[in-house]
Amino acid sequence: MKIWRHFFINIFFLFNIYSYLYNMKTIIKPENLRFLFREKNNNGAEFTVKSLKTNKDYTFKISRSLWNEKWYTHVKVEQGYQDYKRLGTFADGQITDKKQVVDTPAAKAIAWVLRQISGGDYSKLNNNVEIMHTGACLVCGKKLTDAESIEHGIGPVCRS
Ligand SMILES: [Zn+2]
Repeated sequence: MKIWRHFFINIFFLFNIYSYLYNMKTIIKPENLRFLFREKNNNGAEFTVKSLKTNKDYTFKISRSLWNEKWYTHVKVEQGYQDYKRLGTFADGQITDKKQVVDTPAAKAIAWVLRQISGGDYSKLNNNVEIMHTGACLVCGKKLTDAESIEHGIGPVCRS
């Protein structure tokens, strides 16, 4: 009987360690998100924004593309694991989709974050949210491998 109890406790323990490592995210300073607006085509920078007040978090994917000589910032939000839904395009401080302002909680949250970044003021971000990347460069989406890149969420090529 005792052996079985130890067995189950250990399985439970290992499962917790596994899920912790599997979902491991690295907290970065919000100012590193300024690279998001770089004029560059990409498939989507993935990051998580967690509210320090409510503990609620959203994972976003932001991609940039050039169309008719204008740069567009497209925003998706994760619904289920790695299942992304398009929210809309960020412009003039808001998320819009088909010329309508999107005002879901996720859209409002990311619009607020992007407004702070485009305004170059990181104080409210520092005080209210935690930004985490998921191991990939916030500009090009390639996997980050060296310590400095992981600390910033940006690879050496995109950082320069
Ligand atoms: Zn990169």
